[in-house]
Amino acid sequence: MEVINRRKRMMSVARKLRQEENRTIGFVPTMGALHEGHLSLIHEARALCDVVVVSVFVNPTQFGPAEDFKAYPRDLTRDAGLLAEYNVDYVFAPTVEEIYPDGFSTYVTVEGLTDKLEGAARRGHFRGVTTVVTILLNIVRPDFAFFGQKDAQQAIVIKRLVRDLSFKTEVVVAPIVREESGLAMSSRNSYLSDEDRRAAQVLNQALTKASAAYSEGERSASRLIEAARAIIESEPRAKIDYISLNDADTLETLDRIDDGAALLSLAVFIGKTRLIDNVVLGATEKQVGANA
Ligand code: AMP
Repeated sequence: MEVINRRKRMMSVARKLRQEENRTIGFVPTMGALHEGHLSLIHEARALCDVVVVSVFVNPTQFGPAEDFKAYPRDLTRDAGLLAEYNVDYVFAPTVEEIYPDGFSTYVTVEGLTDKLEGAARRGHFRGVTTVVTILLNIVRPDFAFFGQKDAQQAIVIKRLVRDLSFKTEVVVAPIVREESGLAMSSRNSYLSDEDRRAAQVLNQALTKASAAYSEGERSASRLIEAARAIIESEPRAKIDYISLNDADTLETLDRIDDGAALLSLAVFIGKTRLIDNVVLGATEKQVGANA
């Protein structure tokens, strides 16, 4: 495994793999602090592609001024050890200056899809995401890029970016990996105290409750959301940012689920830590975003 810091080196390695060795490249972008959620993406990439490239880059442009860019967990030595165990071929770990050199002034924006949910709660977040993903895809030019359903809106936005700008990369979305307690794995879980961690189980419990209501025939958005809300409000450490039911392809807000897949997503503060989670109702996760 080689750890690469320079974009020129990454570009020339990837070009050689593609053009001279004719090997397929699978790319997994991450911000590091790796956990089983990331490793599941790497596992899928390993199964589907000849060569696996993982980027580790805490992207400053996707954090708001009051967000946790400085505090975000970073441990490249630990991450590189895990990635070597997973037979990753290349780790791309550039500095901020390498990605955003002096005079950088070009940003990529996906309109519409980014106005709601995480986009509404975190202004400018997706502009940072789509800009860095564009840069990374241009550097690596992978055949496949792997993203997690954990960040459901991000996966939909990236699919739209790739389609609209004709990237020659196929986006693969992998299911959410959870701890035994049901808590979705996240690098931000490291901010949680033991007591917070217990409280954070309400996110998945709320989604499970709403899914059960859906299975029993409930189709009204307000009643599905209410079922989830009641569970979260029963936990004093939890404060709801939003709970929303949206079309799983277009993210249009739904009053009810008629046909097609619906995304029930939420963002909840546990103490100071903001966590997100979601479930898809009425379709398998693999189908989500297929028409985005
Ligand atoms: P991050 O390092 O948080 O930017 O995440 C990198 C990638 O891993 C993104 O595509 C995430 O959606 C994905 N990911 C993060 N947590 C999970 C999880 N629990 N299950 C599946 N994928 C995940």
